Amino acid sequence: MDLSYDARYEEFREDVRAFLAGHWQAGHRRHPERVSEFRQAATARGYLFRNVPTVYGGSEQPPDPLKARIIDEEFSRARAPKEPSGVGMMLLVPTLLECGEAWQKERFVPPTVRGEVDWAQGYSESGAGSDLASLRTRAELVDGEWVINGQKIWTSNAQHCRYMFALVRTEPDEPRHAGLSYLLLDLHQPGVTIRPLKMLTGQSGFNEVFFDDARTPADWIVGGRGEGWQVSRATLKHERGSIGGAETYDAQFSKLLDLAKARRRDGRPAIEDPVVADRLAEISGYLAAHRYSGYRQLSMSIAGQDPGPVSYMNKLVATDIGHRIAGLAEELIGDDALLLPDYDGGRRVGDERWMNQFFGSLGVAIAGGTSNIQRNIIAERGLGLPRDDREGPA
Ligand SMILES: Cc1cc2nc3c(=O)[nH]c(=O)nc-3n(C[C@H](O)[C@H](O)[C@H](O)COP(=O)(O)OP(=O)(O)OC[C@H]3O[C@@H](n4cnc5c(N)ncnc54)[C@H](O)[C@@H]3O)c2cc1C
Repeated sequence: MDLSYDARYEEFREDVRAFLAGHWQAGHRRHPERVSEFRQAATARGYLFRNVPTVYGGSEQPPDPLKARIIDEEFSRARAPKEPSGVGMMLLVPTLLECGEAWQKERFVPPTVRGEVDWAQGYSESGAGSDLASLRTRAELVDGEWVINGQKIWTSNAQHCRYMFALVRTEPDEPRHAGLSYLLLDLHQPGVTIRPLKMLTGQSGFNEVFFDDARTPADWIVGGRGEGWQVSRATLKHERGSIGGAETYDAQFSKLLDLAKARRRDGRPAIEDPVVADRLAEISGYLAAHRYSGYRQLSMSIAGQDPGPVSYMNKLVATDIGHRIAGLAEELIGDDALLLPDYDGGRRVGDERWMNQFFGSLGVAIAGGTSNIQRNIIAERGLGLPRDDREGPA
């Protein structure tokens, strides 16, 4: 198996490196203006927003998974800003490009690409998470407006967002999936109440969002009435893909190695303890396997094949690796795990910040379809085992 890139791609890699050397140094602080200028230059060179048409602020490049991979690798290495990381860019933009009306793309895609507006994802409700199709928030068309009533939960960052894309029940007489529509709405209105949920870490990453006669115009619907399920499947596909990448975990593992060298056990660096060394070797093995599995997914995309269960497997394994890394770090820092992280100029400092990583690793195993649901899908679609009677989000 030859995993090297051919000369054309190595040349492309050199171009990306030269661009980064001229535009971004690893130590750069991420001031919004500097990030915005950098992103504009990177877009003009065709490195960012590759699948977004130029009229909507993208660089509109022909699909090339290998080039996309090289850009990702080099931007990670240089610690340069990539595309904005919120659900607006990751989930809504691809969905609008795939299913939206022309006016919706014109109005919503450019400011989202520029990072000027943030979106919340309004899917989950209490009693409707894995079994998303049982959701009960409803919307009725009254005098040219959707009137929305109900409640969402676990809505990440809603307290900081201007808009929401939500899955709501508009056709109550239709079967479960056929009764849903995908609406866009402004969160800054009297009918919306956002209540942050405080987590163990003291932070409020999630919210409950209440709708009491909240309103949105009739044409702020993506796809037709009752087509929300299909539209939402487009976003779930993107979310799974985005969680499974190996680069993030390579970087975390290298920080874990540093921690194991710096922390001491029985008077020696912890990395010299055979039990710790064994655990590190095990994680490193999982990481290598995951990297090659990523190449497999990449090869399938290049060949125009649907990676199918391979992408679910990669999400499952990636979250497991993240949890193993953070779990070992938690053991290495010992009693420091009981402290809340300190902040310096907005950045978390000190080894106790690993605890955020640890709690985060539990969250990632739930967000975008829980690990159990991924296992069900791999078993049913990948291995051909009998279907589970209960219905999941896929
Ligand atoms: C970090 C994070 C961010 C999130 N952000 C958002 C957001 O922005 N917007 C949003 O709408 N939602 C968000 N969520 C919610 C997330 O989508 C749901 O938590 C998730 O779908 C699971 O639903 P649930 O919490 O209702 O758990 P449940 O579906 O009730 O599951 C409970 C347990 O039962 C298991 N289970 C359920 N069904 C099956 C089955 N058929 N087979 C085997 N096991 C099963 C699950 O794996 C889990 O262990 C977020 C969650 C997290 C953790």
